[in-house]
Amino acid sequence: MSDTLSATRGAGAARRWIHAELSRVAADCGGCLRVEFDPGMVTVTRHPDKPSVNVVNVLAWLPGRDTTRVIVLGGHYDSCICNIDRFDATSDAPGADDDGSGTSAVMELARVFAKHYPHGLDATVVFALYAGEEQGLLGSTHFAERLHAQGYTVVAGMTDDIDGNVIADDGSVDSTSIRVFAGDPDNHPSRELLRHVWSVGELYQPSVTVLPVFRLDRIQRGGDHIPFHNKGDAAVRFTERLENYKRQHLPTDTLGAVSFGYVAKVARLNGATIGTLAAAPPTPDSTAARRDQASGGQRWRLTWHRAPNAVSYEVLLRRTTAPRWERVIAVGTDTTMLLPVQLDDAYAGVRAVGANGHRSLAAVVPAAAFVSR
Ligand SMILES: [Zn+2]
Repeated sequence: MSDTLSATRGAGAARRWIHAELSRVAADCGGCLRVEFDPGMVTVTRHPDKPSVNVVNVLAWLPGRDTTRVIVLGGHYDSCICNIDRFDATSDAPGADDDGSGTSAVMELARVFAKHYPHGLDATVVFALYAGEEQGLLGSTHFAERLHAQGYTVVAGMTDDIDGNVIADDGSVDSTSIRVFAGDPDNHPSRELLRHVWSVGELYQPSVTVLPVFRLDRIQRGGDHIPFHNKGDAAVRFTERLENYKRQHLPTDTLGAVSFGYVAKVARLNGATIGTLAAAPPTPDSTAARRDQASGGQRWRLTWHRAPNAVSYEVLLRRTTAPRWERVIAVGTDTTMLLPVQLDDAYAGVRAVGANGHRSLAAVVPAAAFVSR
C-alpha cells in the first residue's frame, strides 16, 4: 500500500483530491451531497506478513426520500503495477484505465446527479470511490459490511472497472458494446439487476450495446461488486469488451489509451440505471409461492406484500432456460395471483410500478436458497 502522506503521490494524495473535488460539487448544490472519508482497518490476507492497514474509501451520498434504501455505484481509485511486482508500493502506477476510467465516471455521475436532482430521488444513491481493490477488494468489502451492519437495504451494488479501452492488443476495435457481469445462480438478485441494465440500455442508451454475461466476473478475475453479490445483494460489474492485457497492472496503463467518449457512454448507461432504479418503488417484500390445492397442485399462487409508493404490480414469467422474462402481466393493485403456469417448470417474479412508470427490480420465486435478506 502506497504512501499516504505525500500531497502529490500515492493513495493519500488521490483520496484527498477526490474528496476535495466531490466537496466542491457538494458546495455547488447547496450541500446536497454528503461527502465523507470511509476508513476501515482491514487485514491484507494476500500479503505474506498479513499486515493490518487503514483502507479509506471516499463516498458521496445523495440522500433520497427513503434513506434506508441505497443504490451504490463504485470505482476503485487505487492502482498497481502488480504484473511486475505484486506489492510494489513506490513506483508509478498510472492506472488510467484500471481504474481511472471507472473512478472518473463515478465522480462525473455524482456531479450530474447533484446538479439535476439536488433534492435526491426516491432511493438514496452512493457514489463510492474504493481503496485497496487490487489488494483483495478491501475497500468495497469494508463498505458492503458497513451498509449491512447499519441496516441499509442495498438495492444495487455496481462497479465500473476497466471501462475505457476500445482497441485490443491484436488491433480489434469495439467502442459500442459493454460487458455487464452478474453471478450465479440465475434467480440471484444480481441477475435481476443485469436484466434491468439490459432493458434500460436498450430503452435509454441505444448507442451502447449491453453484452450480458451470466458469470460473476471475467475468468479468474474479480471486482468490487463481488462483496455485495456474496451478501445476496443485486450486484453487477461494467467492463469494456476488449481489454488490453499489455497495459493492465503495468506502467503502460496511461491516459493516452483511454477513450473518453467510450467512458462517457458507459457512464450514461450507469446514469440511466441509477436514475430508473432510484425513481422506482422498492421491490415487493415477502414474495412467496405455494401450490394451489384446488388444481391438485398443478397451479401455484403467488403472494407479496404492498410496496410503499407502488401504484400497481407486474407479474413476470419465464422458462428456467430463458435469459429474460418472457411474459409481463399487469395485475393492478392486487397482491396475489394464481399463476397461469406450472411453477415447477418456470420462474416467476413480481415488481412494483411507481406513479412515474418506473419499475423496481423483481422479487423472484423460487428465490436463491442461500440468500439471506
Ligand atoms: Zn480494476
